[in-house]
Amino acid sequence: MEFDAIVIGAGPAGATAAQLLAAGGRQVALVEKDTFPRRKVCGEFLSAPSHAVLDLCGVGAAFRAQAGPVVRRIGLFSGDTIVIAPQEKDWGQALGREHLDTMLRDAAMAAGAHLFQPAELVTLQRRGADYHCRLKIGDGENTIAAPIIIAAAGSWRTKPPLAVLRPECPSDLLAFKAHFCGGAPAPGLMPLLAFAGGYGGLVQSDGGRLSLSCCIRRDALAAARRPGERAGDAVLRHIKDSTHGVAAALDGAVLQENVLAAGPIRPGIRPRFAGGIFFTGNLAGEAHPVIAEGISMAIQGAHLLGRLLLAQGPGAAAAYEAGWLRAFGPRLVAASLFARAALGARRPATTLVKAVPALLTWGAALSGKGMA
Ligand SMILES: Cc1cc2nc3c(=O)[nH]c(=O)nc-3n(C[C@H](O)[C@H](O)[C@H](O)COP(=O)(O)OP(=O)(O)OC[C@H]3O[C@@H](n4cnc5c(N)ncnc54)[C@H](O)[C@@H]3O)c2cc1C
Repeated sequence: MEFDAIVIGAGPAGATAAQLLAAGGRQVALVEKDTFPRRKVCGEFLSAPSHAVLDLCGVGAAFRAQAGPVVRRIGLFSGDTIVIAPQEKDWGQALGREHLDTMLRDAAMAAGAHLFQPAELVTLQRRGADYHCRLKIGDGENTIAAPIIIAAAGSWRTKPPLAVLRPECPSDLLAFKAHFCGGAPAPGLMPLLAFAGGYGGLVQSDGGRLSLSCCIRRDALAAARRPGERAGDAVLRHIKDSTHGVAAALDGAVLQENVLAAGPIRPGIRPRFAGGIFFTGNLAGEAHPVIAEGISMAIQGAHLLGRLLLAQGPGAAAAYEAGWLRAFGPRLVAASLFARAALGARRPATTLVKAVPALLTWGAALSGKGMA
């Protein structure tokens, strides 16, 4: 089957790119290996500046109606310190990835994208002007072709031909995510968590659920884990034992479903165009999750790519690479600095934020959430 463009991965980046291209009249294939709805390791918070892209995709109203309460204040929970930023603002809302990703995928289909799901890209070959994608679909196979390939397959354990697998190392960040019902921090508060060897976030999501997500160094997790203890249980215990604000927010809360794990998470900037293929979302570049901006960067970056491809076709590479760097470079740098403060010199950073709580608002604005 022949298409104008093939998008690999129906996460926020892939579905947004597919929706935009299909709405622009292109024949688009959207390929996703997992069945939806599916839960995913993620804090689920989507910052307010991204809501405009959701509106363009036709899912803004549904998102706002289904998502959790508006986050109005940023906070910090670290050890027995609890700091709450003085300024209030509409920072954004959180919605479970089982809902958000399904919403965006359905919007792409409604715009005319042809969905292959569950279907996994296994090989990618250039033949003349086209790329041929061999898809594994159940026990069978299918080959589809297009002159434009958009790789939006995420970055955690993404396999060749879209990414190179790297060996494990002690400083790897492993990610975890849990949903609770019953507990909550103060209404409208989204605290950043800083604990020994890691960082995380707590936010009220859809349906009254509380979402706790975090990253922890592989060596810190190994040190915290008791014999026979599951990794997810060890991380939750480690955070609750060391972070009073979390223990208080989770008092009486009940864990829903299993704790999800993912990783290693390796933030950084990667090529946005290579070997004739466009990369977007986490595959193009990934900020430390400490700033909770990955979904926003994924949909904003895919929107940028979609717009440029509609206007310029395959010649959009240079404009896309430069535009991506301009839009997200500062956010990646800010995220890296905040992650270093949370992971390393935790005490001086906490003391500073305690003395000047407005730094939390400033940090949120710097990380892409708009000015307070
Ligand atoms: C602990 C943690 C907390 C986070 N919290 C937040 C937050 O609160 N807010 C926020 O904005 N961001 C957050 N993020 C970041 C966010 O989750 C990611 O940046 C975002 O998911 C990236 O979207 P994506 O579309 O690039 O990739 P993904 O969401 O990973 O989607 C990629 C898709 O591609 C599919 N795929 C992979 N390989 C293939 C293949 N070969 N063939 C077909 N399909 C394939 C996958 O199944 C997947 O569905 C967090 C991350 C972590 C680790």
